[in-house]
Amino acid sequence: MNKNNLPVVTLRKGKEESLDRFHPWVFSGAIASMPSDVEEGQTVAVLAFDGRFIGVGHYQIGSIAVRILDFDDTTIDKDFFIARLRDALNLRRSLNLSRDDNDAYRLVHGEGDFLPGLIIDIYGHTAVVQAHSPGMHFCRDIIALAITELEDLEVANVYYKSETTLPFKAQLDPQNDYIIGGFDSNIATENGLNFHIDWLKGQKTGFFVDQRDNRSLLESLSRNRKVLNMFCYTGGFSVYALRGDAQRVVSVDSSAKAIALTTANVNLNFPNDTRHEAFAEDAFRFLDTMQKDEYDLIVLDPPAFAKHRSALKNALRGYQRLNYKAFEKIAPGGIIFTFSCSQAVSKEQFRLAVFSAAAQSRRRVRIIRQMTQPADHPVNIYHPEGEYLKGLVLYVE
Ligand code: SAH
Repeated sequence: MNKNNLPVVTLRKGKEESLDRFHPWVFSGAIASMPSDVEEGQTVAVLAFDGRFIGVGHYQIGSIAVRILDFDDTTIDKDFFIARLRDALNLRRSLNLSRDDNDAYRLVHGEGDFLPGLIIDIYGHTAVVQAHSPGMHFCRDIIALAITELEDLEVANVYYKSETTLPFKAQLDPQNDYIIGGFDSNIATENGLNFHIDWLKGQKTGFFVDQRDNRSLLESLSRNRKVLNMFCYTGGFSVYALRGDAQRVVSVDSSAKAIALTTANVNLNFPNDTRHEAFAEDAFRFLDTMQKDEYDLIVLDPPAFAKHRSALKNALRGYQRLNYKAFEKIAPGGIIFTFSCSQAVSKEQFRLAVFSAAAQSRRRVRIIRQMTQPADHPVNIYHPEGEYLKGLVLYVE
């Protein structure tokens, strides 16, 4: 039994083991029985084969069948979300991420904040909410209310953006729209730099807050360097490089919209700065046709080459090819910031791809820093899958 008479999902014998170690997923193959009328997105109670209570979570059709929201028999209502959001906000506050000169950060990072299926990014007075599970989709209104009820968060607008993140087959037909409030200023501040955030049409929630710390590191290494920012999107790395006294900064992205956004963001911070140029071009083509030794700081931050495990082999080849091109062209004494944001690619696999590229180029290459996601993208220790961003800073002779 469970206190709210939720539909019961009973596990097969032994399948409670990972849940007893607080891993928050129930795979479909672990289920022994459940009522036939449970609907996608419904909150269910999960019991071990012997009837022992395991947790409450959101049910969905697919390989991950239940995402556990609590290992106690908790009621999943607005108060539940207020409590979880309060914990999430306390962490960000203790990290000092919410300041006059920094109002862009991730408030909720799915499993990392014990809210599987939910992402919330804060941009000034606007929260952008993204549901990755039908359960969170159905909770969107109480989540929006919970956000605005955190009085010290000062969020007035909640934009819901899940058209591309929910399983297509669930036929939920989510509309991207404001749940609360409406369009406000779209300028947010990160470490004292201002950015136009396009949550309406941009990728993901509109900005990649996960590169904040790595952008700062780049700033500290940019002085007098000629910087090439590949896959620039909003131009984040470019703007930091300019503040770091780079001699020249070139931004490249295949999307014309991204180049327009980068140009707007550079102008917002450094109007009429002739050190910057931006090109809408394919990164591989650009690297092929550019001169050798033209740049001595190159950023490679491509989109996830492997969205699924099935694409792993091609993805690793892609990383090797891309990094090889940079090794081939970078000036001696150059620095490369190279990243992979594919969850399916492990740190070791990524490093091996970069290693192969270095060996192929026959350059002397040293790892001088290792990078990961920032503290507002925490990894739940029981859910190591939450670690996705990996990067290396390389010194190339
Ligand atoms: N570095 C960015 C995030 C990169 S997102 C930041 O700090 O915010 C990935 C970007 O790569 C997207 O803007 C996408 O338009 C671009 N992109 C994808 N394929 C590309 C290609 N083949 N050549 C150049 N850019 C590409």
